[in-house]
Amino acid sequence: MGTLADDQLQLQRVLDGHDAAVFFGGAGVSTESGIPDFRSPTGALRAREDFGFPPEQILSANFFTNRPDVFFRYYRRHLLHPTAQPHAAHQWLARAEQRGSLTGVITQNIDGLHRAAGSKIVHELHGSVHRNTCTGCRRTYSLGHMLLLLDERGQDIPLCECGDPIKPDVVLYGEALPTGPLHAGLKAIRQADVMIVGGTSLSVYPAAGLVEEFSGRVLVVINREPTPADRRAQLVIRHPIGEVLAGIR
Ligand code: NAD
Repeated sequence: MGTLADDQLQLQRVLDGHDAAVFFGGAGVSTESGIPDFRSPTGALRAREDFGFPPEQILSANFFTNRPDVFFRYYRRHLLHPTAQPHAAHQWLARAEQRGSLTGVITQNIDGLHRAAGSKIVHELHGSVHRNTCTGCRRTYSLGHMLLLLDERGQDIPLCECGDPIKPDVVLYGEALPTGPLHAGLKAIRQADVMIVGGTSLSVYPAAGLVEEFSGRVLVVINREPTPADRRAQLVIRHPIGEVLAGIR
């Protein structure tokens, strides 16, 4: 592994020497904002408290239908982080888009921090906690409203004015990815000269298969642990992504 300064120098050379880059990221992009990822030793899938079911089961479409009370207890505890703020990586990506050197962010994250940092072209493959829809009348609600129902009104299952449960617009196990963000993300990846993959274990399909679609010149991986894409990458960086991008123009 290179030193942080060496890795930053190499990444800067890649970015200065090539055309448009695209970014594909996951939960590791937000750990420096205080949001745990899923699969690191401290990740949400390894949470010690017992909900009576494995997290992957709780976060499935069937489970949401059958046990929404347990689903929302887990969801509120592990997936909602309303006070988290974007950090240097989110901010660098937003600036790079404004400068015209980044064609977009494709993310598996549902936390909305890329948009909060100012990124406009964000393909959210797994949806967002900021959008919520009534399962009955399809009325939509903000994250703030969900927090009002869950925290202040003490509802175990947040209910619409029509009386039906409200479902967060996040992709659960057993659900298909939304086609709009998926197709737009694929297009951006196929057109990119440089692809930066960051903060993702690349273990969740089909999103992880997107890296296979990249046929540009330079693949960069910035991830604390090894990933299946490392063998294809021209540059692999194992330092925290916020620290890395904080030193890049
Ligand atoms: P993952 O938990 O499987 O993997 C995260 C990877 O990021 C790990 O390999 C870890 O080593 C690395 N990492 C952690 N912090 C890092 C840092 N600061 N710098 C560089 N690397 C770092 O995450 P995934 O691949 O995105 O898959 C998890 C799924 O869970 C996604 O589908 C996502 O929707 C969901 N999820 C989202 C959030 C969020 O929105 N912030 C949080 C947890 C889980």
